[in-house]
Amino acid sequence: MPKLGNETVKAELGRATWKYFHTVMARFPETPTEDQKEALRSYIYLFARLYPCGECAEHFMQHLSKYPPQVSSRNAASGWACFVHNEVNAMLGKPEFDCTNLGEFYDCGCSGDEEEGKGKEGTAASRSDAGKVVATGQHDGPAVEISKEETTRG
Ligand SMILES: Cc1cc2nc3c(=O)[nH]c(=O)nc-3n(C[C@H](O)[C@H](O)[C@H](O)COP(=O)(O)OP(=O)(O)OC[C@H]3O[C@@H](n4cnc5c(N)ncnc54)[C@H](O)[C@@H]3O)c2cc1C
Repeated sequence: MPKLGNETVKAELGRATWKYFHTVMARFPETPTEDQKEALRSYIYLFARLYPCGECAEHFMQHLSKYPPQVSSRNAASGWACFVHNEVNAMLGKPEFDCTNLGEFYDCGCSGDEEEGKGKEGTAASRSDAGKVVATGQHDGPAVEISKEETTRG
């Protein structure tokens, strides 16, 4: 991944990504299956490899090799993510975040989960039977068709 020289873009990307990253952890199951644990572990390593700021990706992979992802529960994953974010904060000379405040910052939105399955109108995308994803969200532009790639292994 190339170096990201624009500091403003780097910081904006970082803020948005951390919000997403911590929200992923806040919504991870409290008692995950082995498959879910493996999915989160793989995701974190791929996230690090593909992070679109080369020097950040390199630093973050070093943090991962020192502090491997903890995926045994939502609590473990959230706490680990807060810890590694603090490692990045320390490296950049930023103040340490109090991880006991995590719940206030990253609302998992779980209170609406019982509503799942109801009121799905206007969702962004649906699957057609031809193996394509057809965007159906309400917007002014033309419908977008995205061809599904061949399934690959490895
Ligand atoms: C994986 C990754 C690696 C990065 N590596 C680099 C790098 O090598 N060099 C570089 O210059 N920039 C890097 N960044 C960007 C950097 O971490 C910041 O996002 C950026 O500098 C903007 O900082 P900020 O002060 O606005 O707060 P951010 O660090 O972006 O945090 C956003 C908000 O999250 C909350 N927060 C802070 N700490 C924690 C925590 N420990 N747990 C939970 N919430 C917290 C606070 O409310 C904060 O305002 C990286 C970003 C990511 C996602």
